Amino acid sequence: MAKVIDSKIPAGPVPEKWKEYKAHQRLVNPKNKLKLDIIVVGTGLAGASAAASLGEMGFNVYNFCIQDSPRRAHSIAAQGGINAAKCYQNDGDSVYRLFYDTVKGGDYRAREANVYRLAEVSNNIIDQCVAQGVPFAREYGGMLANRSFGGAQVSRTFYAKGQTGQQLLLGAYSSLSCQVQAKKVKLFTRYEMEDVVIVDGRARGIIAKNLTTGKLERFSANAVVIATGGYGNTYFLSTNAMGCNCTAAVQCYRKGAYFANPSYVQIHPTCIPVHGDKQSKLTLMSESLRNDGRIWVPKKLEDAKALQQGTKQGWEIPEEDRDYYLERRYPAFGNLVPRDVASRAAKERCDKGFGVNNTGLAVFLDFSESINRLGLDVIMQRYGNLFEMYEEITDVFPGDVANEINGVKYYKPMMIYPAIHYTMGGIWVDYELQTSIPGLFAIGECNFSDHGANRLGASALMQGLADGYFVLPYTIQNYLADQAVWPKVATDRKEFDEAEKAVNAELDRLLGIKGKRSVDSIHKELGHIMWEYVGMGRTAEGLKTGLKKMHDLEKEFDTNLFVPGTKEGLNVELDKAVHLRDFFTMGQLVAFDALSRNESCGGHFREEYQTEEGEAKRDDEHYFYVGCWEYKGKGNEPELIKEPLEYEAIKVQTRNYKN
Ligand SMILES: Cc1cc2nc3c(=O)[nH]c(=O)nc-3n(C[C@H](O)[C@H](O)[C@H](O)COP(=O)(O)OP(=O)(O)OC[C@H]3O[C@@H](n4cnc5c(N)ncnc54)[C@H](O)[C@@H]3O)c2cc1C
Repeated sequence: MAKVIDSKIPAGPVPEKWKEYKAHQRLVNPKNKLKLDIIVVGTGLAGASAAASLGEMGFNVYNFCIQDSPRRAHSIAAQGGINAAKCYQNDGDSVYRLFYDTVKGGDYRAREANVYRLAEVSNNIIDQCVAQGVPFAREYGGMLANRSFGGAQVSRTFYAKGQTGQQLLLGAYSSLSCQVQAKKVKLFTRYEMEDVVIVDGRARGIIAKNLTTGKLERFSANAVVIATGGYGNTYFLSTNAMGCNCTAAVQCYRKGAYFANPSYVQIHPTCIPVHGDKQSKLTLMSESLRNDGRIWVPKKLEDAKALQQGTKQGWEIPEEDRDYYLERRYPAFGNLVPRDVASRAAKERCDKGFGVNNTGLAVFLDFSESINRLGLDVIMQRYGNLFEMYEEITDVFPGDVANEINGVKYYKPMMIYPAIHYTMGGIWVDYELQTSIPGLFAIGECNFSDHGANRLGASALMQGLADGYFVLPYTIQNYLADQAVWPKVATDRKEFDEAEKAVNAELDRLLGIKGKRSVDSIHKELGHIMWEYVGMGRTAEGLKTGLKKMHDLEKEFDTNLFVPGTKEGLNVELDKAVHLRDFFTMGQLVAFDALSRNESCGGHFREEYQTEEGEAKRDDEHYFYVGCWEYKGKGNEPELIKEPLEYEAIKVQTRNYKN
């Protein structure tokens, strides 16, 4: 019988109770001059916004990142946009509708109250960012422009060309720099958190490695916040930046923080397909392209075969022989179905032999109709940098006209295929974003909080900035209110000694293996196992095989790894080895969770549980909970703890994007 926890969500009708609760949070006056220290690990959108806000409120913030500048955090990769319920298009949007779409998009596995709060603050985020000077796209008349993203029938995505993440991060960075100048934030770039230090059951500091000198250093504070991103790189190939890792989160998990819903991994439908075994990274083509691009494969198998053999090109196939399968299957949402639905539909077509590239693992994303309707200029204004990026990688420019059939111009289509992109699972947090370790908070992609089993496009930036600018700065004070009388602990305590000793011993162990295999070769093999057995379609048998293979490969890692160099100075291979050690823990956790959840929901698709039409089949009777995992030591199965979900404002039903 699994343990049960609750999330401190107040019971009662919504939304009145939530409002009272928020009022309670404001009892701690943010204008008080507080002499409290907070460690914020991460300078992505979540970490930078949190550090800047906490600094402005008077806390002393120590802000860490592994890059040489906060501006190089993975968040800059975000292309498409950020959601908010402003209803500038006058299309019926509202806070409730954004809340509803997000809960539905997450396949009814998110915590309702958190999502409502997220939708509520979404509009403040846009105002905050505009005030910082973020250059959002505007209409001719000056109003902020919007576009549509998957899972919504309104247009609520704010964007800055295809560089939304970068522009938002520059805004957050300018606020952060202001606090650095004011000496409220101290930046530690090229530092990696290796462990969290627990004193009397509370998070009191971290052990961080100076990545340039190799030296381990101790930092003490009144609270620790991790904002260290997701674990997509467990799969080796993903759209994430190469440096993304889950070391900080996994160390917190090893120290007792619950890890929630690890099996909810998002596979994005529009990525450039894998084209060989020498790749180390996949490239996303933003979901925004699905506003004007139409996804299709040939209707006839012989056309698909000809495409695969290279004897025919996509633009030679006339309209009547094209299967716009998303528009056919989901007439109400068409090409804008959520990512999990679009990814599975692409896989289904390719599995049936309709794939369009030489590996048979690709579908077309075609702009012919929209270019004919709107003109290339308009399309280039919307997606110019994405077209150029696609051309740079594939040597095909999607704006090039290639054929004319019956007076209709056909342009060169993009080829796309699903790839690992985002992780909905993460460190478990309560409503106040506090983990199961008091004093340890988790924000942004590294927590599990708002997206349930599937995240809607343009909602990650919204959540990261909501957490950083508007939620954590309030909620952390509820914890700190009774900490003000406690001085922060000294770093020469035995807890710091022990944590540092353990990190050192691990580095020695990895360097001392002196085997024959490089970190990347083992990581790549782990990625293959993850993709094949814990990827888009999972089965109980496959997951067990995957777990066994991971276990064996981890042994190979422990006995046959080769890390050149020493602990002193810069040693990138050593850093990667530490990350890989933690990807092993993470991969197994994903598989355990997937195995325990005998249903399909969102990004977790168990092939045994699907409808006759191939849609995900949820089992609300048995799995209507957040699955939290407690670490039980290396090689042991973690323990499942359940947080039951309670829905009061939204009726739980089967997702429908057909009508
Ligand atoms: C290609 C791409 C496009 C995307 N487009 C969109 C989009 O259009 N809209 C949207 O909403 N979302 C998008 N996303 C998702 C979104 O970008 C991310 O979910 C979000 O940026 C994560 O922000 P974060 O602050 O939580 O983490 P990150 O931006 O990943 O930042 C993590 C930070 O933690 C630091 N860090 C990590 N480990 C350690 C450690 N051990 N010690 C010290 N520091 C550490 C890093 O240095 C970094 O500063 C996209 C994602 C990708 C991959």
